[in-house]
Amino acid sequence: MTKTSDDRYKQRQQRIKANIDQRIAQAKQERGIIMVFTGQGKGKSTAAFGTVSRAVGHGLSVAVVQFIKGNWDCGERNLLMQQGVEFQVMASGFTWETQDRYKDQRAAQTVWQEAKRMLNNAQLDLVVLDELTYMINYDYLLLDEVIKAITQRPTQQSVIITGRGCHRRLIELADTVSEIRPVKHAFDAGIKAQKGIDW
Ligand code: ATP
Ligand code: MG
Repeated sequence: MTKTSDDRYKQRQQRIKANIDQRIAQAKQERGIIMVFTGQGKGKSTAAFGTVSRAVGHGLSVAVVQFIKGNWDCGERNLLMQQGVEFQVMASGFTWETQDRYKDQRAAQTVWQEAKRMLNNAQLDLVVLDELTYMINYDYLLLDEVIKAITQRPTQQSVIITGRGCHRRLIELADTVSEIRPVKHAFDAGIKAQKGIDW
């Protein structure tokens, strides 16, 4: 690197640092936030459980509701339950294959009661509502009721919602929203879903 390009690099880094420092100084609020991980790409639940590990690693209290993969094995659940994370799983193990709408709706309502209890518990720092978006899109849960429970949660508590096609009103309500876009997925090339990678 020549002297001038070295100087330019330094100047640019200083400008970036000044900008970030200013933004850090302006971020004064301390409260729990709502995060949404949505989109068609792989990584929504992985991001949620990554955040759970982060929180547990700092000694925070976390609870998880899984709204879909009831009967499925789940690596994160195996690990995190050993760390004292409460998991509530939808009983019927709803999938797009189940045919009994009434049964699925009841199962959603039952596990939603557990979610409401968590969203009311000030001891919990983080509550994960994994695959919640489908419950709203299928009309198994009332959007207004979900929004009310999330809005009325304890101030310091954070919430994560995952799933494709997140409702516009939840996106508006959220503080942080990431939409994961599929660029490629191994499944499309005929590769089977794998333990430890996909669940
Ligand atoms: P992950 O749990 O791997 O983070 P996800 O939560 O983003 O995935 P879901 O819609 O919950 O995605 O799908 C769960 C399963 O479907 C996972 O096994 C995942 O690997 C797979 N999957 C996710 N996105 C795609 C895709 N675009 N094409 C095919 N399979 C996918
Ligand atoms: Mg998922």
